[in-house]
Amino acid sequence: MPLVTTTEMFKKAYEGGYAVGAFNVNNMEIVQGITEACQEQKAPVVLQVSKGARAYANHNYLVKMVQAAVENCPEIPIALHLDHGDSFEVCKSCIDGGFTSVMIDASSKPFEENIALTKQVVEYAHAHGVVVEAELGTLAGVEDEVCVEAGNESYSRPEEVEEFVSRTGCDSLAIAIGTSHGAYKFTAAQCTRNEDGILVPPPLRFDVLEEVSKRLPGFPIVLHGSSSVPQNFVDIINAHGGKMPDAIGIPEEELRKAATMSVCKINIDSDIRLAITATIREYFDEHPDHFDPRQYLKPARQAVKDMVTHKLINVLGCNGKA
Ligand SMILES: [Zn+2]
Repeated sequence: MPLVTTTEMFKKAYEGGYAVGAFNVNNMEIVQGITEACQEQKAPVVLQVSKGARAYANHNYLVKMVQAAVENCPEIPIALHLDHGDSFEVCKSCIDGGFTSVMIDASSKPFEENIALTKQVVEYAHAHGVVVEAELGTLAGVEDEVCVEAGNESYSRPEEVEEFVSRTGCDSLAIAIGTSHGAYKFTAAQCTRNEDGILVPPPLRFDVLEEVSKRLPGFPIVLHGSSSVPQNFVDIINAHGGKMPDAIGIPEEELRKAATMSVCKINIDSDIRLAITATIREYFDEHPDHFDPRQYLKPARQAVKDMVTHKLINVLGCNGKA
């Protein structure tokens, strides 16, 4: 099937009590690793492209690679989504350039400005058959050009969410309930430590999520910054010359719970980066004489596929839902 919007996949996810994975793509191996996993597991998927990805790989390359994946995986619905569009112009260029979904992130602007800009994007997108994700509330962390220091984040306010959605007409909304961008989602001071000395993050604000769903029944919610930063990847990286002390993510059980609620899209980016980096660091350590990129990119691609397969089955619950 051709590229689809997220409308149908979110409706089914909401009713079915699962979430669709939204994975960031930057190069061919990542596109292949993700979509091979989804094809095998018969899972719908959102492939998303950030401003940084467009700067790195070029819009045309990314769109053509995703189109190749669509041809290779004819049985699963795939949406192509702009992650964190920060202006009407960048959203318009993606809408005109073949995307089926865009995010306008004006969450750093005052409430009324966020509404005005989101509404402008919604009007253009809907006129072109494209859906829009917006954001209200501020996540901490670092993602490409979005950087918010811990302590300056703010949870979404349910009463504002209701007004925002009705006034903008957006199709889905990213809210802040305690997830965070990057591989260092929380400072040590925000966490406790378990008996192994591993940081345990503060729990997500499920009360906020529940209040939002009560006010907007059936409306799809999006969670950004939802990598789990698996300890085994961090350990492999640190054992092979890396230095990522106290990297920390969102526990998978919490994401699983959110997926059964009104959360229909869960964004995963850092875990892909970690899977690749861990695999390549280990590979270089064990094969110091190898220099053909295919030798180390092949297992890196496989690591992305394995990690995504695990997420589809054990975290998102969207396997078999294509
Ligand atoms: Zn994000």
